[in-house]
Amino acid sequence: MSIKDTMGNRPSISHLSSPTSPVIFKYMEIDEILSRLPGKDCGLCGYRTCRELAEIALAEPEAIRRCIYLEPQRDYQIPELGEGEITWKDVLGREYDFVLNKYPEDPGPRETILPFNPANVERLKVKKGDILYGRPASTGCPVQHAGIVVEEPDYFNGLIVWCVVGPLQARERGISIGCYTPVAYEGIVKSSRVELQIGRRYDFLPRYCMLQSRHSGLVNMISRTKDGDRVRLEGIWIE
Ligand code: SF4
Repeated sequence: MSIKDTMGNRPSISHLSSPTSPVIFKYMEIDEILSRLPGKDCGLCGYRTCRELAEIALAEPEAIRRCIYLEPQRDYQIPELGEGEITWKDVLGREYDFVLNKYPEDPGPRETILPFNPANVERLKVKKGDILYGRPASTGCPVQHAGIVVEEPDYFNGLIVWCVVGPLQARERGISIGCYTPVAYEGIVKSSRVELQIGRRYDFLPRYCMLQSRHSGLVNMISRTKDGDRVRLEGIWIE
């Protein structure tokens, strides 16, 4: 019986030959691996559930590293700025209207991006859970970005939704998409000097921007929550 079979049709204990059955040991080992995983069942490791990854990791222990939440360096560890810490000036002294933080449930800042050659999305068979890297050259940004694909790509338009993650992940299993255009940023605004309105263009500071440069974007979605305004910005550029 394969591990998959055992997990798909878990037999009752009474059906097992003895308390020391190899099947029981396998369950115990899988449960032990599972206890080290966060249980989000987000699919970002490339498997649909944490249990599926645990089953694979039983035979291939290295596979557990595919869980993006396990190692601290795999996530953005930059803390949110407290109200008193915000200078309201970027690295070049330019003022901005608000700070854009990542959604708390995401592994990094959520962006919709369009490779310069959108046909590459289908050619490379990009899928949810892949780690990609490239440079947002249309904004003039000199920094390579890496991100994990968090939704199945839109092959028709060549659009990818990813969450930006640390470069280490790209070194391990990254796929190059070359240059790309950032189409949209999404995140949560907890600190703002202005009232946000749909249809208005703002200068903002993406909290995780390595250059700490002011960006400009047009807000076209606002969802007000008790923790802040969840927003989507399009028409992104660096000013
Ligand atoms: S990435 Fe981690 S939390 Fe998400 S399904 Fe895979 S093992 Fe579970």
